Amino acid sequence: MTDPVQSWREFERSHLWHPYASMTAAPPAFPVVAASGVRLQLEDGRELIDGMASWWSAIHGYNHPRLNQAVQDQLAKMAHVMFGGLTHPAAAELGRLLVELTPEPLQHVFLCDSGSVSVEVAIKMAIQYWYVLGRPEKSRLLTIRNGYHGDTFGAMSVCDPVTGMHHIFSHLLPKHLFADAPQCRTDAEWNDEDIAGLQRLVEENHQQVAAIILEPIVQGAGGMRFYAPEYLRQVRTLCDRYQILLIADEIATGFGRTGKLFACEHAGISPDILCLGKALTGGYLTLAATLTTVRVAEVLSSGEPGVFMHGPTFMGNPLACAVAVASIKLLLESPWQQRVERIAAELETGLAPCRKLAQVADVRVFGAIGVVEMQQPVDMAVVQPAFVEKGVWVRPFGKLVYVMPPFIIESDDLACLTSAICEIVTDC
Ligand SMILES: *Cc1c(COP(=O)(O)O)cnc(C)c1O
Repeated sequence: MTDPVQSWREFERSHLWHPYASMTAAPPAFPVVAASGVRLQLEDGRELIDGMASWWSAIHGYNHPRLNQAVQDQLAKMAHVMFGGLTHPAAAELGRLLVELTPEPLQHVFLCDSGSVSVEVAIKMAIQYWYVLGRPEKSRLLTIRNGYHGDTFGAMSVCDPVTGMHHIFSHLLPKHLFADAPQCRTDAEWNDEDIAGLQRLVEENHQQVAAIILEPIVQGAGGMRFYAPEYLRQVRTLCDRYQILLIADEIATGFGRTGKLFACEHAGISPDILCLGKALTGGYLTLAATLTTVRVAEVLSSGEPGVFMHGPTFMGNPLACAVAVASIKLLLESPWQQRVERIAAELETGLAPCRKLAQVADVRVFGAIGVVEMQQPVDMAVVQPAFVEKGVWVRPFGKLVYVMPPFIIESDDLACLTSAICEIVTDC
């Protein structure tokens, strides 16, 4: 008889895909059997301090009693019910919270399954908006390089053509407009030259452009770059001047990660359409939301076809809505802003030793996000087990070694994370 633990791992290794992985040549994934607070427990008993928050999402850490309870309470009532023609209190409560917390013009909520789907929904809304208004030629999107908006076809079409990981599909994607990524960093003096390229694209193409879509202030998986709020303010102004909708993809930045509840607040602007996901449920269940202004909702509900053309099977899943409500309340009751500030300060000091290394191109911190950008892509086959050996979970990507830990991480655990990064980067 085979050892049962061995056998599930062998089975999964030869049958289950992992994100952006080979089915035949991927290094084995590390088996996690439990997680609590900021610690992941491996099957062999080792514990890892989590630097990734399961890709931005587990902001309260794992196995949180309040979130567990919210799932259990909802489970005792119902796990799911279709949202076509039916509704339930958890969706309404979540919708109310989202409308209250996001900028005032955003009043209408479309609940969907994942971040990528919320981007698809946002794109469809923008295109349908101009169709209803009798301007169907306004159907292109404009975005900035180094963006990442998800893996589905519409989302892929606005990811960075190079760093967006989708180049092999590019001949199948609609050709949208790409402006150079902003160069002005969050802390640098603003230079109008930075937005000249985007402005030119807008001036030349606004008759065809339905919306500008971008990640506000922090560009995530497309490069982990941070840019000046003034850029975002000027994008908003251009959108208003040229009748273009602004879609803010806050799937990574939403719910406090950058030190504001939403990154748009750094620039004091509000988008016409807002995408939320990732930390929405505190990392418990997959759920996303696309919010719009009254104007967008009214246009989509008027003319022909008179309804918004989208409706996923698991729209407004009650379990996911219930845990999202609990996660948002938990966040608002917590001193999240002080926590994020403290994490930022400790990332800054903890990662500082990397700055003087020749193999390091840049070290940057914004909110509870710390990035060490290398000159060369790291060798994952070496680096990934090395992090685990040091008792931390950090998953680099290309040249980027980065962390965005749960907000509840204590200083000593964060120091373990940053010193592991410094040591491993030194050996690269
Ligand atoms: C993760 C992410 C997405 C895609 O979300 P999924 O839930 O993975 O589909 C879209 N936009 C941004 C900014 C993201 O970080």
